Amino acid sequence: MNPRPRKILLLRWLPGRLMLTRAPATGQSLYLTFDDGPNPGHTPAVLDLLARYKAKATFFVLGSQAERNPGLMQRIADEGHAFGNHSWDHPSFLRIPPAEQCEQIERTDRVIGAYNGGRPISFRPPSGRFPPTLLLRFLRQRRRMAYWSYDSLDYRREPLERMLATIRAQPPVAGDVVLMHDDSDLTTQALAALLPEWCAAGFALRALPD
Ligand SMILES: [Zn+2]
Repeated sequence: MNPRPRKILLLRWLPGRLMLTRAPATGQSLYLTFDDGPNPGHTPAVLDLLARYKAKATFFVLGSQAERNPGLMQRIADEGHAFGNHSWDHPSFLRIPPAEQCEQIERTDRVIGAYNGGRPISFRPPSGRFPPTLLLRFLRQRRRMAYWSYDSLDYRREPLERMLATIRAQPPVAGDVVLMHDDSDLTTQALAALLPEWCAAGFALRALPD
C-alpha cells in the first residue's frame, strides 16, 4: 500500500486556493487532519495526545456528529485546532443531486460556524469523491476544497504494526497534509507511536492555514 494517493498527481495542478493538497513546508510543518468525527469514543483521546505533544490539527467534521457533540466541538475550538466540513452524514457525492450536495455542505457550515470564529471553512468530500460540477461551484464561490497528500490508511484497519511499518517505510515530509480518522482505537494507538517520532524528527504539527 502506498500512502501517497495517485489522484493527487492530477489534483495538485489545480490552483491551491481552489484545491488544497499540500500546505506550506515552512518550519518543517506537517498538517494532521482527522475526518468523520467528532466521536465521543475516540476524539477525546486524540485531543489528549495532540495536547501532550503541543500539536495542532484540523478536524473535518460531519455536521450530524458535530450537532450531537457540542462539548467536543467546543473543546476542539478551545484547544486551538481548526475545523473543516466533511458533509452532514457522509453520502457519496457522486450519487446525490446538486441540491442535496449544497444542503449537506451548508447545513454543516452552520453548525461549524458556531465554533470557528467566522473563519473560512474548507470542504473535504466524503471518501475524496466529487463530481466536476461541485468543483465548478467552488470556483464560482471562491471556496476551497481540501484534499490530502499523505494517507495514513487507518481506515483499512490493518494490524497496528503493519500500519506503522507502511508509514515508517514511506514517512511524510514537511508540507504534507496527512489523512487520519478520529473514529478508532487503531488511529489513537498509531498516533501515540508516531507523534513522539515525528516531534523528534523536527516536525511542527500545525492546523491547516485559512
Ligand atoms: Zn470520511
